[in-house]
Amino acid sequence: MGNPTVSELTQELRELGVSEGEVLLVHCAFSRVGPVQGGPQGLISALENVLGAEGTLVMPSMTDDDEQPFDPSSTPCLGMGIVADTFWRLPGVIRSDSPHAFAATGSRAPLITAPHPVDIPHGPDSPVGRVHELDGSILLLGVGHDGNTTIHLAEFLGGVRYRRKKELVAIDGGQPVRISYEEIDHCCENFRLVDEWLEKRGLQKKGNVGHAEARLVRSRALVAAVVEELTRDPTVFLHPFGVDDQCDEARASLER
Ligand SMILES: [Zn+2]
Repeated sequence: MGNPTVSELTQELRELGVSEGEVLLVHCAFSRVGPVQGGPQGLISALENVLGAEGTLVMPSMTDDDEQPFDPSSTPCLGMGIVADTFWRLPGVIRSDSPHAFAATGSRAPLITAPHPVDIPHGPDSPVGRVHELDGSILLLGVGHDGNTTIHLAEFLGGVRYRRKKELVAIDGGQPVRISYEEIDHCCENFRLVDEWLEKRGLQKKGNVGHAEARLVRSRALVAAVVEELTRDPTVFLHPFGVDDQCDEARASLER
């Protein structure tokens, strides 16, 4: 058994249910998907093959560094993996100019990467919000829902009250300035609960792409299911006090 070729990956993506012309947001752990022929670029080619000329491929492209100003032409995105960090560097890919950047190529890429406010990273007026608005899908390759940024959009729309204090450096009038803001955030480990919520509702397609397990879900279906669960229990994603600092901070913010 050799490593999967681009055409085999293309076939696997089609079988999973990725369709031509759609808007697709991809989160990927290449360490699980690979090795594949052509490496990360081979996988990106397979995704572009399935989506076709009318489709749109989107990946997270945010900075890992809250001390340096973001530069869309040079700031790496290592935290989101080698595929995301390869993607934004490719010709024809547009990267939004934000520390919470996403990158996109295809017909809706200019819309998805248009300027977005820095202080609500995954709200309605953000790349994930626009994928939701455009009725796009989310593809998880070798990652679980704990890596699914669209769940933060659902938290926003579901009206969760917890926040964590964040800081970053932006350029304002040619000078670096430190910006403080509050973000809907926590350790995100309990985003794994979403897997069961989607399975229960029959909203998730599962299959294999390369060597990894893959999950495909419509953004609107995911958000609706998560909002429903948050209505039942607004702190369902937060660990109890004393498990980790991030959930502790989010819980403490509810008492302010
Ligand atoms: Zn936690």
